[in-house]
Amino acid sequence: MNETMVEIKQVTKAFDEGIAVNNLNLTIRAKEFITILGPSGCGKTTTLRMIAGFETPTSGEIWLSDKEVGRLEPYQRDVNTVFQSYSLFPHMTVFQNVAFGLKMKKMKKDQIAAKVKEALALVQLESFADRSPKQLSGGQQQRVAIARAIVNDPKVLLLDEPLGALDLKLRKQMQLELKQLQQRLGITFVYVTHDQEEALTMSDRIVVMNKGEIEQLGTPQEIYEHPRTPFVASFIGEANVLSGEVQEVQVDHVVVAIGDMFVIANHNPDVKKGDEILFSIRPENVQFYESNATPFTVSATLQEIIYAGAIIKFICETTSGQRLIVQASGDRLRTVKEGDEMIIGWDAKHAIVLSA
Ligand code: ATP
Repeated sequence: MNETMVEIKQVTKAFDEGIAVNNLNLTIRAKEFITILGPSGCGKTTTLRMIAGFETPTSGEIWLSDKEVGRLEPYQRDVNTVFQSYSLFPHMTVFQNVAFGLKMKKMKKDQIAAKVKEALALVQLESFADRSPKQLSGGQQQRVAIARAIVNDPKVLLLDEPLGALDLKLRKQMQLELKQLQQRLGITFVYVTHDQEEALTMSDRIVVMNKGEIEQLGTPQEIYEHPRTPFVASFIGEANVLSGEVQEVQVDHVVVAIGDMFVIANHNPDVKKGDEILFSIRPENVQFYESNATPFTVSATLQEIIYAGAIIKFICETTSGQRLIVQASGDRLRTVKEGDEMIIGWDAKHAIVLSA
């Protein structure tokens, strides 16, 4: 799993309007499902298009296996791209759409038939070979586009928000299908999305991009449980980002003053007494306490209760004016109301110190 498949070395892409990708370094391994995740305009599509060959880096190199391809045409690279718009040929059947590239390459007819059949089977569309695209649902059309992209056995499949046009239910189903397909094919998938849940569900590793640069690279669990920056903490899931002054550094935790109250956060070797720090904590890891008998808690006023079916969120404001979202359940909470004073705390291990 550690063989390198794609290597992006110090790649910058500047347009007249500004820099879209800034000195990017990224190593993508063979057979991994890697997702480039970030908000609109962060440079994820530009990065993907440079791997595909639709954009040329302003500077830097792109390696595919052991070949530098940064300035080669798309067809000279062993990669294929699936876009959000399926871009199927409307006047061709499903079979003809998938066969198109192989025909161009002058592959023999019986060989083409076998490969197309195999690709359609992989996306579960064997019985749809003779239909025209307009007789298919959006999800089926996207599967045809995927079959067309895998039929010539690329080393890398690039996917640019491929499920963006589908409704939520179908998207969730296709997420699972795509992940299974990637495992069955055993090829590298580079997937672009702005949907953090999609990234968390599907990826072996996630690259979080912001303003043309990588903010963090890691497994979904690392990214979710140990965000390194305020941006990553808030972009992936929901997070409370709090600030305070370090009072005490212990082996396994630090004590932080928020106003005139003390809370705890995970130990971090980079912080020392007196530092102003930011730390993040997920709403599901924050608890209400019955009394302030526990040493490390903050008092806060309950400002809003948001009922969302399975979960209830409580928006609170600490006495020093910081906003805290608590996701909690329990009979006692049925009787609390806006304006109530709450006592809030958490385990040190859930409060992650962020770099500024
Ligand atoms: P989205 O999710 O909205 O597609 P993105 O993260 O994929 O966003 P990019 O499409 O890579 O972002 O764009 C990054 C920046 O580069 C943006 O500011 C965009 O306006 C700019 N940009 C992208 N393509 C071009 C282009 N062909 N010419 C000029 N500027 C461009």
